[in-house]
Amino acid sequence: MIQKNPVMRICISCRKTYDRKNLLKITKDHKQGILLHEGMGRSAYICQSKTCYSDSKIKKKLKKALKTSLEPKFIEIFEKEIKTYNDYPNKGI
Ligand SMILES: [Zn+2]
Repeated sequence: MIQKNPVMRICISCRKTYDRKNLLKITKDHKQGILLHEGMGRSAYICQSKTCYSDSKIKKKLKKALKTSLEPKFIEIFEKEIKTYNDYPNKGI
């Protein structure tokens, strides 16, 4: 058995470190623009604590982390995604 160490990433809101699979991943893909859960390029992570995904400055922090502006199309998808977290508060962590 090969023991796999979890990949740890920092949440852009609370700055705490978590296992990557418990985080919401946002990637600025070279070709496709900003994507959720996929893509290649600069990535930012948000943990699934209510404090973080309901952070009123989260989009500002995301913009800073990805060094890009957020397209309206992405914001729409993103807000839908974090709403899912609000609907299921016990999901993930
Ligand atoms: Zn967090």
